[in-house]
Amino acid sequence: MIRLDRPTETPRVLRNRGRAETRQNCKAYVEDPLAYDSGDLRFDFNNHIYGAPRVREVLKRIQHNKCCYCESKTSPGRIDHFRPKGRVRQRKGGDKIHPGYYWLAYEWNNLVLACEDCNLKKSDYFPLEDPGERARNHLEPISRESPLLLNPHVDPDPSGHITFNGSACQPRTEKGRVTVTLLKLNRPILQEGRQHELETLELLCAVVRDPNQCDTLRRDARRVVDSRARPDAPYSAVARDYLSAIGAGN
Ligand SMILES: [Zn+2]
Repeated sequence: MIRLDRPTETPRVLRNRGRAETRQNCKAYVEDPLAYDSGDLRFDFNNHIYGAPRVREVLKRIQHNKCCYCESKTSPGRIDHFRPKGRVRQRKGGDKIHPGYYWLAYEWNNLVLACEDCNLKKSDYFPLEDPGERARNHLEPISRESPLLLNPHVDPDPSGHITFNGSACQPRTEKGRVTVTLLKLNRPILQEGRQHELETLELLCAVVRDPNQCDTLRRDARRVVDSRARPDAPYSAVARDYLSAIGAGN
């Protein structure tokens, strides 16, 4: 996971149709909070708004066409609500808390692009350091919440929470640990992808450092090494970690 920068301007479809839907949902909640809190009444969300082509397009660009959590290349990728819109659970097997963060269903800052696997694993879980601080409806502030799930669009330095041991994610904090466990960031397919990156880097770095290789080849190898740590490269976090460990980072 790497830090991502999100433009502050909200896509128009969310500003117009999204906000209108949100106003309607908030009004409906106020009219019968108990029915929504118990799960008897549920909101109907319009995926043509939060999943509009323009929203997808901007997210793809700022996420370099990768899953924001695992850094695999996503095509087309799923729109993921960082704070789940329909219902919430604190932990696996925990109770479902209704009605979820319905007022953030069309909120630009709550939308990310995730691969199918991460999206399914994240599901409706949204663990907090203190579940007692959870905002249960739009009248309660989310500013009191301390999420235990890393958000690469918000957390300034994901690498401070998750580092690597070879191809395996190694959490450095509780937030890192919960994120790795919940999203299963050490699943075999991801470890294979990261391992492949590491082997390529090792080979290229050996060429860069070999004085017997011609200068052109060494320069070309250096260029490729640098490109593997760029934000648009798959699994760039493990590449950065590796290069920094061998003293070849930028
Ligand atoms: Zn993913």
